[in-house]
Amino acid sequence: MIRTIFILILGVLITILLACSISAYHSNKPMGKSVGVLSLVVIPPLFGNIIIIAATTNWFSAVGQYIYHIGMDMIMFALIGFTYNYCRIDNRSLKGFHLYSRFLYALLTVDIVQLLLNPIVGHAFNLQEIEAYGRAYFVMIPHLGMKYHRIICYSCVFLATFVFLYMSVTVPRIYRERYAVILISLVIGTLWRTVYVFSRAPIDRSMLGLAACGILIFYFCIYYRPVRLLDSMLANIVSEMDEAIFLFDLDGKCIWVNEPGKEMVKVYDGNFDQVLINLKEFIGDIEGIPEKRHVDYSIDSNAGVKYYTLEKNSCFENTGKVHGSYLKVRDVTDEKLKIEDEFYTYNHDMLTGLYTKEYLYEKVSDRIAKGDTDNFCIAYIDVRDFKIVNDVFGRSFGDFALCTMAEWIREHAGNTSIYGRMGGDSFGVFLPKSGVKQDELENDLANFVIRRGDKEYHIVIHMGFCDIEEVDDVSILFDRAHLAIAAIKDEFKQHLAFYESSMREKVKYSQDISAQLGTAIRENQIVPYLQPIVDTDGKIVGAEALARWIHPTQGFMNPGSFIPIFEENGMIVDVDKHIWRTACKILDSWKATHPEKFISVNISPKDFFLTDVLADIKDFAEEFDINPQNLRIEVTETSMMSNTDGRMKILEDFRKNDFIVEMDDFGSGYSSLNMLKDMPVDVLKIDMKFLGKTEDQERANKIVKNVIRLSDDLGILSLTEGVETEEQFEMLKQMGCMLFQGFYFSKPVPLKDFEGMIS
Ligand code: C2E
Ligand code: MG
Ligand code: MG
Repeated sequence: MIRTIFILILGVLITILLACSISAYHSNKPMGKSVGVLSLVVIPPLFGNIIIIAATTNWFSAVGQYIYHIGMDMIMFALIGFTYNYCRIDNRSLKGFHLYSRFLYALLTVDIVQLLLNPIVGHAFNLQEIEAYGRAYFVMIPHLGMKYHRIICYSCVFLATFVFLYMSVTVPRIYRERYAVILISLVIGTLWRTVYVFSRAPIDRSMLGLAACGILIFYFCIYYRPVRLLDSMLANIVSEMDEAIFLFDLDGKCIWVNEPGKEMVKVYDGNFDQVLINLKEFIGDIEGIPEKRHVDYSIDSNAGVKYYTLEKNSCFENTGKVHGSYLKVRDVTDEKLKIEDEFYTYNHDMLTGLYTKEYLYEKVSDRIAKGDTDNFCIAYIDVRDFKIVNDVFGRSFGDFALCTMAEWIREHAGNTSIYGRMGGDSFGVFLPKSGVKQDELENDLANFVIRRGDKEYHIVIHMGFCDIEEVDDVSILFDRAHLAIAAIKDEFKQHLAFYESSMREKVKYSQDISAQLGTAIRENQIVPYLQPIVDTDGKIVGAEALARWIHPTQGFMNPGSFIPIFEENGMIVDVDKHIWRTACKILDSWKATHPEKFISVNISPKDFFLTDVLADIKDFAEEFDINPQNLRIEVTETSMMSNTDGRMKILEDFRKNDFIVEMDDFGSGYSSLNMLKDMPVDVLKIDMKFLGKTEDQERANKIVKNVIRLSDDLGILSLTEGVETEEQFEMLKQMGCMLFQGFYFSKPVPLKDFEGMIS
């Protein structure tokens, strides 16, 4: 009966081991093949034992004995291979293992051979029949060969045991389990086996231990998940995260916190109840935090405002049941401050801290969209000649001046206003109309002084205003306010200007005629009209060339309607060069008929900046081979205001080249009689229009008389412009004036008419 039970148990174990072996072999695990082989080779000894237990004859039992012992050798082969793979001997410094294992492999091979020789030599064992459990049983009587077999098998087991022991001791604590379990099963299995060897009991019960070892190893290698290792690794990973993580059980009790979490709630001793209390103090009611959503949260601490994002989630079992929850708290202060910082630098002017132009536009658009229109307006603030401030006092003073202005705007704008820096020296403001107190503003701006240390600069600030109307783009409104300033840009006494739609028309007109200038010159739409200049006898001695534009659609245009525009934008150079060249061409055509008549041409102050006036005029004179004496150069006092020495040198050079230089409009600008004595001019053109308007005619006449006398003394010829009556002519003659120009003699006329007059 007992035998049958054993046979059945062993049969069951064989089946299990076979299943383990197949499963391990196909498991794809790194240890799969090794474990498969080990589980498989445990089967022969068990099978051998079944035969031994069931044997009724000597030879039948002997077959069982051979299968059993040779099977044990196979197990030893597999055990060494398994140990090698399991402990990754390859990667470890277990010096000598290879040598020992090879040696043992050789001894195992010898063992198998000597066991197989036993039927002939009889040196290993023989069988002796006894009675056990009511039936014949054949016990093995060991001889020398069997002793050798046992020594070899124990050596193999010892080697494996030693390696597992070594591993258990040397690996990190968390991995110890992996080796200790195998080590323990090896030790128990060996002890059990030893006990049997010495007990000489008829049925080998240690086979159960062997099978158990096989199954255990299979389980450990193939199915066992080292939970503690996993836990420790996960805890490690979570601890190293930047976020604070708090785990809660179903009842909301805190069960674990990672390092940043401990740091956050200042609980370092694992008192999780305290963690919960402190956490509640920190972020309030945790239950109230919605699941699966980022919640932004900020607190005002001693170290300033801190920003966090909170995220709460439930944890689910495999079955889908909730078994706890966790809370993630991330300190996003740095990120947030960085974004705020970037936003600030992007939208604010570095120097003044005001909004940038773009951001100002954005903000103003928002306000207009919200309906802040009728009661609000736009102001454009501009510093006149700011470049001079920079130039004279240095950049740092310039920066200081801009900051002072920004401060002034901040102080005056009021809290419903928006303001920013538009660019270099200009600012833009969106403000309530009630804030525009004209008298106060005028007064403030008139006395705007920048003081730093001992430096003081009175800057001229202009402010242009415009109403808020519906436009596609707010930049248009700021442009309009800017445009308003253009109307007062040369004023020193007036600082405020208000946009009117006519200003836009003016700009449009300027743009239109500027665009047409090229064609106008090419097609000779711009021509010089000639105004006679006469001597004391009334005889025409020459003429002044005055530009007229015979426009294809607008008709006849006086210089007043285009010269100022081109003087402003610099295109005057093109007009003047055209007139200078045409004048030379006319003089060329007069060579035969009127070789002594001259023509005066005008030179605008801008010409001196934008071209080499002397070289140009010389070129034209040479081109037509005209006598320089016949071409007179009219410069104004304004031209001499800047770079006076350089300009005087140019005039000097003109004279050296035999051109005659005239000072135009003398008396209308910033005349300085003192300057006159140094001026290299041949003719002084006195502006009669200017004198004609004065109330005290007698006084004016005295001035003219004295200017004529003075110029006479200086050897300068005087010419009076704007002579309209005979009386004026007579009087000027009396005063000693030599040349005359004015409507009294003739208006400026086309070339043909003038030629008619002189022939
Ligand atoms: P300007 O050079 O002083 O020219 C004299 C201006 O006085 C001319 O005006 C002329 O028509 C005007 N005039 C002459 N006699 C009388 C008079 O008896 N009574 C009055 N009320 N006016 C008189 P215009 O032709 O309109 O030219 C105005 C200004 O435009 C010129 O003043 C000159 O500064 C500028 N200008 C004209 N043509 C040119 C040009 O080709 N180049 C440059 N740069 N400027 C020019
Ligand atoms: Mg002139
Ligand atoms: Mg003049």
